[in-house]
Amino acid sequence: MQPQIVLLKEGTDTSQGKPQLVSNINACQMIVDAVRTTLGPRGMDKLIVNAQGKATISNDGATIMKLLEIIHPAAKTLVDIAKSQDAEVGDGTTSVVLLAGEFLKQVKPFVEEGVHPRIIIKAIRKALQLCMDKINDMAVHIEKQSKAEQRSLLEKCAATAMSSKLIHQQKDFFARIVVDAVLSLDELLPLNMIGIKKVTGGSLEESQLVSGVAFKKTFSYAGFEMAPKSYEPCKIALLNIELELKAERDNAEVRVDNVREYQKIVDAEWQILYNKLAKIVDSGANVVLSKLAIGDVATQYFADRDIFCAGRVPEEDLKRTMKACGGAVMTTANDIKAEVLGLCETFKEVQVGGERFNLFQGCPNAKTSTLILRGGAEQFLEETERSLHDAIMIVRRTIKHDSVVAGGGAIEMELSRLLRDYSRTIAGKEQLLIAAIAKGLEIIPRQLCDNAGFDATNILNKLRQKHSQGGQWYGVDITKEDISDNFEQCVWEPSIIKINALTAAAEAACMVLSVDETIKSPKAGEAPMAGGMGRGMGRPM
Ligand code: ADP
Ligand code: MG
Repeated sequence: MQPQIVLLKEGTDTSQGKPQLVSNINACQMIVDAVRTTLGPRGMDKLIVNAQGKATISNDGATIMKLLEIIHPAAKTLVDIAKSQDAEVGDGTTSVVLLAGEFLKQVKPFVEEGVHPRIIIKAIRKALQLCMDKINDMAVHIEKQSKAEQRSLLEKCAATAMSSKLIHQQKDFFARIVVDAVLSLDELLPLNMIGIKKVTGGSLEESQLVSGVAFKKTFSYAGFEMAPKSYEPCKIALLNIELELKAERDNAEVRVDNVREYQKIVDAEWQILYNKLAKIVDSGANVVLSKLAIGDVATQYFADRDIFCAGRVPEEDLKRTMKACGGAVMTTANDIKAEVLGLCETFKEVQVGGERFNLFQGCPNAKTSTLILRGGAEQFLEETERSLHDAIMIVRRTIKHDSVVAGGGAIEMELSRLLRDYSRTIAGKEQLLIAAIAKGLEIIPRQLCDNAGFDATNILNKLRQKHSQGGQWYGVDITKEDISDNFEQCVWEPSIIKINALTAAAEAACMVLSVDETIKSPKAGEAPMAGGMGRGMGRPM
């Protein structure tokens, strides 16, 4: 009798070979089905409710994928590419998932027939290479001749990014705001120098761009009303100091045996506070911002001396003010001098809807701006913020790489034609595989049609014909249920989105194909039944 060899822990689940690969592909298909309908200007939105009952309405692929909490190990790669697309270029997150899923779907029959995954992977890599060369070749560079031309290019790209979102009706309005916001930054275009604040109520068109820093008025004590609400110019003290009398710490003990001693202690405490306040006032600041609380005594003290103060300012706002206006955040009142104060041209407090906002404008150091969004429901504003984030990322990308391609499926159709033509020139399995990938690329125009309720077969046939006759920018025309030259229609997207999306999709497809075995170890000390919902620990792979 042979001794039994125990290699893996009891309860370990392994599956391998072709069925395993096919099941991974099927799992990816299910993810694609979840986001499929959100693509394009006529895409639908998803309402996702999490375990805490928080509802999110979104059209953004990356947001949806994040909220879905997918645990399937292979399908997770699709979540990762959506996230990386979001981080890299900010838009095209639905497209990247769709492309990866469709590549897998198209090569699935070959897997089932027993073509070795390595051959399929090689074909995908080859196809990707051809696509990259073609995009770089075709992309139209817009010369940075005049400011006006560059502006209109940026506005078009921003409008295309927003045309598939909830706010598509106001896309021209927001395109202008987004371009203004990005152009107001310095060369490095730091994303965190654009603040986005949301105030519910009012209409979307009441949203405004403030050049400078703006944040909601913080909680304040009596005495605040007397403080002036505008300065020109203005000196700002940025503090991380508590300016309030505090109750004793838990286990501090002071023994006194007569009232006079006690009075001395109380006086000393007040004296410490007054010393701090006096030093701040001596520095010549007009506005005092602190990350920590500013109490009622301090508020009154500042108000009596015509100084505006705000306590508990959120850290990011304080940092942005510091970057924009200069100065330093002080943690002690001892060395507050004129040199550590920030400067700006105007400070004022204004009413926006039901909120009061503190505005700092004309900041000398860094360039920064703040978008104050208005609109109905909270969820609507959150989705608006996400859509604007996409548009801002697109504008930043376009400034850095000023080459664009036509959207609406035009570029995908052209690449598909290229691959199909190429496949006819080669022999062997690769021919079929490249043709399958060419078919996979058609998913974008097909889905755009499906989501708009058009006859996809009809439109795709028209597109194939146009592209074979050299109409390289022809894509789906969403308004006329037909095809049109999307370059002339100004449906422009930065070529970097497409390059990134195709590369990520091809990589993800290759990754899923190259896995031939999943080994799932049993969860530590847990019966397989327990709730059936356990997740997190012992995640396979
Ligand atoms: P993603 O998350 O991938 O950006 P979207 O829902 O934003 O997904 O849809 C983007 C797709 O919609 C792109 O393929 C783009 O070319 C297309 N698109 C955007 N605007 C238009 C338009 N006006 N006409 C046709 N297609 C458009
Ligand atoms: Mg988009």
